[in-house]
Amino acid sequence: MSALSGTSLGGYGHPIFKRDGYRCVFCGFDGNGFNQWRQLTIHRIRPKREGGQRSADNLVTACQFCISVTGRMEFSTDLSRDEVLRLKKEQVKERLKDFRCFWADKVAPRDTALTPEQGGTYLPHPLLLDVSSLELTDWQLAKISSDNGDLRIELTAKGELVIMPPVSTRTGWQEGRLFYQLTAWADRDGTGVTFSPSSGFRLPNRAVKAPDVSWMPRERWEAWLREQESEEEKDGETFASFCPDFVLELRSSRDTLASVQRKLEEYLENGARLGWLIDPIRKRVHIYRPGTPPQVLEDPATVSGETVLPGFELNLREIW
Ligand SMILES: [Zn+2]
Repeated sequence: MSALSGTSLGGYGHPIFKRDGYRCVFCGFDGNGFNQWRQLTIHRIRPKREGGQRSADNLVTACQFCISVTGRMEFSTDLSRDEVLRLKKEQVKERLKDFRCFWADKVAPRDTALTPEQGGTYLPHPLLLDVSSLELTDWQLAKISSDNGDLRIELTAKGELVIMPPVSTRTGWQEGRLFYQLTAWADRDGTGVTFSPSSGFRLPNRAVKAPDVSWMPRERWEAWLREQESEEEKDGETFASFCPDFVLELRSSRDTLASVQRKLEEYLENGARLGWLIDPIRKRVHIYRPGTPPQVLEDPATVSGETVLPGFELNLREIW
């Protein structure tokens, strides 16, 4: 335990920052770079009022956030330094979770960006473009999508284009795992077929939507394929004109919960028999069934496919 001398940063702050790699020991905030470094402080694990010394052993690098959420904690004197440190880290983890949920629900993504008047490049997420007067055909909509392959494009029931940027890499990985799990089951089961995140469906309300993962019975799929073959135009650029029986939507960090809930409600209103809203931010699954309010499962390890996907169990451990 070495006493630190001096009161300037050069005297005692700097060696601690350097020892900790300029990172907050509680949340991992990266303080490298001037504006980031300004958020760092030297923190006493055991507070001064409880006899905590300004010694290298009792000092750590912490960010302003973590100081504010651990500042009022009190500890009995028989706790070791490591136990106090662990309790503070737990407190930070809990509060970070609350803050993240609040941010995702109330702040992100619109309010954190500067508007064009403020000199920013604010774009609402998702971007809505009213094209209702054009009454886009399936072919035109598919063309717009393929001409803008990096964007995800849907159509609302009111005739607005919904333009979304690619999802984050992590969300894309989660989507891929969810699609894989359902597809592996569907292949074994054999009674139905799955559709990947970019598959469009023309719902009965005229909206064109692409659920993140979906499934329908094989006979329904094959009947629709036969209908297509009987038509004169066989260009393949059409959307099935019904909602899949099962739909899954994954909430990304850019989505407000309400916006994803509205999507699920729309699928159910348009014929889905089972819908799952997977919310990795809160580790919740919202289950939508026709005619009943959604059921919310807290941190489930698995979810059952019930009678719509008999025998299917989604494993969420790898997603959370
Ligand atoms: Zn921190």
